[in-house]
Amino acid sequence: MSLGFFFNDEHQTLRESVRAFGKSVAPDIPQMDVEQRYDRNTILRMGEEGFLGVCIPEEYGGAGMDYISLGIVSEELEYVDTSLRVVMSVHTGLNSLGLLQWANEEQKQKYLVPQAQGKRIATYGLTEPDAGSDVAGMRSHAKKDGDFYILNGEKMWISLADTADQFLTFAYTDKSKGHKGISAFIVEREFKGVSTGSIKDKLGVRAGNTGFISYNDVEVPKENLVGEEGEGFKIAMTCLENGRYTVAAGALGLAKAALDESVKYAKERKTFGKPIGEHQLVQRMLAHMVRGIDTAELLVYKAGWMKNQGIRNTRETALAKWHATNVSQECADHAIQIHGGNGIAGGPDGFKVERFWRNARAARIYEGTDQIQEIMQGQYAMGIRRDKPIRKELPKYNPPE
Ligand SMILES: Cc1cc2nc3c(=O)[nH]c(=O)nc-3n(C[C@H](O)[C@H](O)[C@H](O)COP(=O)(O)OP(=O)(O)OC[C@H]3O[C@@H](n4cnc5c(N)ncnc54)[C@H](O)[C@@H]3O)c2cc1C
Repeated sequence: MSLGFFFNDEHQTLRESVRAFGKSVAPDIPQMDVEQRYDRNTILRMGEEGFLGVCIPEEYGGAGMDYISLGIVSEELEYVDTSLRVVMSVHTGLNSLGLLQWANEEQKQKYLVPQAQGKRIATYGLTEPDAGSDVAGMRSHAKKDGDFYILNGEKMWISLADTADQFLTFAYTDKSKGHKGISAFIVEREFKGVSTGSIKDKLGVRAGNTGFISYNDVEVPKENLVGEEGEGFKIAMTCLENGRYTVAAGALGLAKAALDESVKYAKERKTFGKPIGEHQLVQRMLAHMVRGIDTAELLVYKAGWMKNQGIRNTRETALAKWHATNVSQECADHAIQIHGGNGIAGGPDGFKVERFWRNARAARIYEGTDQIQEIMQGQYAMGIRRDKPIRKELPKYNPPE
């Protein structure tokens, strides 16, 4: 489908270059998935291609493209494998755009520029063993001590934990204030007292790194406080708005890959003397996939368009994420069904669709579970939730002169 009202020639060129990159890494993915192995060099190559800073202004080391472009990169990467898109979500969506929105000029020059250039890899540490959806349940804390904050705590389920060079981290600076006592910090892996580890045997995203971070009396320079003390919760939520957009766009890519594999198989596989794609019940599954994909695409790029215009899009992005991730799960499920027994066969000699299904599952949990997205839509509908002005908005897209 061509959504000419969202996409221009520049977007098409970008899509083709991400597709070419995807094709170059795709052959290694099934084996990496089996071995639960990620490749830092692939991430660095994504940086060299300019993908990691695609929507970051040129003055901060990025390609200066718009937010639709961020969606396209996410979509095309997840067409190949979720682990590739996750890099866009945590590095660019959750971290770099967070810094673009909230960091001061010094921090942008020191941290955002090398991130956008892909020279340093970044991630986002919000979740803890006892605090996921309920962010205020976090235990990490940072106590001011002269020129430093002394940071202690544990982060869990952090994408790229074992490979990122710097973490956007959240911790209480004043527990008595509840979520208004949370602050945001940039923490470097090199800081003494930082250690990380990987989580093995995940259901999906097995070619990607997910792990934990421990902060043990880490001295974080006071200059690394992002925003003001107590603004961490707001920062975390606005970062999620950008991360969710990349998750939604990526889910769209996975759904399209599931459809393409299904159509290919439905043309080749024959039962009762004809290709299975000529049986109407198989066509019905394809039709459901198409319906989900086209509606997801509209929601995703509507959110991207709103970001370009500088229009608050908390509700629209949450809706796109909720819908697209469910569509991707349904499409992967239909794809397995269409592949019959072969749909269950994984690994380098099997079919891709079982990996799609495993990968699709986690996206309904991270960056706000299905239930959190559903609650948000219900609250907006009831008028219980309203967007309040925030001190620093994500900059709207400024096209080059
Ligand atoms: C592969 C992967 C990568 C991740 N990467 C990152 C990362 O890079 N950085 C990061 O910070 N985090 C990351 N996460 C963590 C993720 O964001 C959390 O797992 C998610 O927010 C859910 O939190 P939880 O696991 O603690 O579940 P919980 O919050 O304990 O929720 C458990 C269940 O209860 C439901 N529930 C909770 N509250 C309510 C309510 N009020 N009403 C109805 N139902 C409710 C939830 O929807 C869910 O079904 C990642 C997770 C995964 C799986």
